[in-house]
Amino acid sequence: MCVAHSLGFPRIGHRRELKWALESYWKGESDRTALLGTARQLRERHWRLQQEAGLDHVPVGDFSLYDHVLDHSVMFGAVPPRFGQVEGAVDLDTYFRMARGRAPSGEPTHACEMTKWFDTNYHYIVPELYRGQTFHLASSKLFDEVTEAQALGLTPRPVIIGPLTWLWLGKVKGEEFERLDLLNALLPVYGDILSRLKAQGVEWVQIDEPILVLDLPYPWKRAFESVYTRLGGNRPNLLLTTYFGALEDNLKLACQLPVDGLHVDLIRASEQLQQAVDWLPGHKVLSAGVVDGRNIWRSDLSQKLDLLEPLNERLGDRLWLAPSCSLLHVPVDLDGEEQLDAELRGWLAFAVQKLDELRILRRALDQGRGAVAAELAASAAAVASRGSSGRLHRPDVRARVAAIDESMERRRGPYPIRAEAHRQRFRLPPFPTTTIGSFPQTAEIRAARRDFKVGRIDAVTYEGLMREQIAHVVQKQEEYGLDVLVHGEPERNDMVEYFGEQMDGFAFTASGWVQSYGSRCVKPPLLYGDVARPEPMTVAWVRYAQSLTDRPMKGMLTGPVTILNWSFVRDDQPRADTCRQLALAIRDEVLDLERAGIGIIQIDEAALREGLPLRKGQWKGYLDWAVGAFRLAANGVRNETQIHTHMCYSEFNDIIESITAMDADVITIETARSDMELLDVFKEFHYPNEIGPGVYDIHSPNVPEVGQMVRLMELADKRIPAERLWVNPDCGLKTRGWPEVEAALRNMVEVARQLREGSVAVG
Ligand code: GLN
Ligand code: ZN
Repeated sequence: MCVAHSLGFPRIGHRRELKWALESYWKGESDRTALLGTARQLRERHWRLQQEAGLDHVPVGDFSLYDHVLDHSVMFGAVPPRFGQVEGAVDLDTYFRMARGRAPSGEPTHACEMTKWFDTNYHYIVPELYRGQTFHLASSKLFDEVTEAQALGLTPRPVIIGPLTWLWLGKVKGEEFERLDLLNALLPVYGDILSRLKAQGVEWVQIDEPILVLDLPYPWKRAFESVYTRLGGNRPNLLLTTYFGALEDNLKLACQLPVDGLHVDLIRASEQLQQAVDWLPGHKVLSAGVVDGRNIWRSDLSQKLDLLEPLNERLGDRLWLAPSCSLLHVPVDLDGEEQLDAELRGWLAFAVQKLDELRILRRALDQGRGAVAAELAASAAAVASRGSSGRLHRPDVRARVAAIDESMERRRGPYPIRAEAHRQRFRLPPFPTTTIGSFPQTAEIRAARRDFKVGRIDAVTYEGLMREQIAHVVQKQEEYGLDVLVHGEPERNDMVEYFGEQMDGFAFTASGWVQSYGSRCVKPPLLYGDVARPEPMTVAWVRYAQSLTDRPMKGMLTGPVTILNWSFVRDDQPRADTCRQLALAIRDEVLDLERAGIGIIQIDEAALREGLPLRKGQWKGYLDWAVGAFRLAANGVRNETQIHTHMCYSEFNDIIESITAMDADVITIETARSDMELLDVFKEFHYPNEIGPGVYDIHSPNVPEVGQMVRLMELADKRIPAERLWVNPDCGLKTRGWPEVEAALRNMVEVARQLREGSVAVG
């Protein structure tokens, strides 16, 4: 009999119960008992779902009130000194202050940094590591939850992050030192945790070491052997889990570590299976991650069984079945998605449905395919329906993609010729000012969009309200004296959803929420079929905005790579192919804007960098097609049209060649927080086109002073020739309020004025 298990379950709740409970606690509207009560109910509900699916044990410790990496930091007593001294256990509000800087009680202070969990859109709280740091067991959460599961009659299988992954995710603060130096202090705490779990009667512990799928420096690889040897002794069995990619050069190491089982991701890296089976010593468990934990498609169960049956023959009860990774990255349940048509719904599996797939697979292995004939037939029918559906394959789209030739990705003239054409056409002053696109999304705007969506107001009324907003934003920008204006994006709920909703090949869930960080969730669109744009998506709004002013109005689009990276995309063709289809759709929009007389068009690629593969060896492949898609979308325009792109991050060092290859006339980036040091790479690389280094940090409610922004521009000028510099905020303004935006933009325009006057030492 093989074992079926899950590496973790979404914690936010099908109706986002945890979100509401957290936010009400933070606002002081409910107390700790209410919050912890909701948390406990969610744990029980999720465990029961896993029990009903027949899983042999339930993960414990995957639940978190904010983030599981933070839970570990707190469990180890790794609380930075600014949150106060901790002796013994860390209290709830200290935990929340670490996560978000403030909590109902305790002094507000700056929160710990947050960053993306591998290549997902989940953000974890970065552990802060200090030289000579000490650790102690400072939370009983894990043990309490083990007791809680046992009391419900379940078999708990605690999930912990391995010491090497936890240290790898941490960031050194203060004096530099080698993070591995902390192992000696940290390992005794792991020892305590494991022996306590053993004493609680725990048989298996899942220990996550996903860094084994990364390019690890030699000392880190070497540390694995000794760490896991030292974690031997009086402890439960350890299942070492890896996910999000192939172990590659770490496969042998992982197979040979002194643990009791290994989990491998067979969705991202099925090619490692044979080698893993061959190398894994005969007493160890192999947990096969065969159900996709990163995407929402229903599995082809017969195909999975073709893979699993021979494994089952060979491994018997040493074979465990699991999702490829924790189910944290998919929505909870398809139940409640009745607005999706039945055909499409039939192709999908969210977390609850994935548990059921595991149940069916396990039963088929134990009792033969005949025991689940009906389920297998249903799965086969869904696969066949998806494979043959006319909604997936559109000959017109396929023909267009096949006809793409490289010249479509190239601007007609090189940058210097284009720049001259732009000078003639727009006659912009030196240091032109602009913004990144959105203006404050006021309650009024959101109400109008909502009313329109639910049919409380008709299209004409809605359009009138949006036009009023646009007119207001245009008039304000003229008043402030900005040079290149925007329409303000009032009609957009979200920069991806807005476009997805208007393209063929996309569908939207009612509550397909996935945790992004803390109480924040995103609802990624489902990109299921060939993509096409039936009609212009933005032209009417932008044309209207342009009609109100003589200044250039910048058209505003989301780029193909960002739409791809922020959606659940089809898995029946390479991502690169899907991206090319998106690029053609955006290209159509770009050319329509150009035809409508819009001379400046910005194509945002906020998510280009986060699509980078985890292994550096695969970067080039990704960057080539991603940059190709951007170029295809952007570069069909005439020389007189100016293309902008925007990226709201700052790490360009290792991708500058690709950024340059995009060949946008202007790139606006985030730099306000780093003293323009981020521009060094543009300088060193002799970045040839124009740059708008964000001088106004929109992530803070503070209004930047003129002097502070002038100083930033002076720093920028040391790196980039003045005639290629723009002055702008570092991202869109939609989360800000009008009073700050107004004051900040007036200051920003004043900065440009001073620079032009030469009253400061620039140019
Ligand atoms: N144009 C978008 C805006 O201003 C860009 C958002 C982003 O970069 N995340 O809101
Ligand atoms: Zn941005």
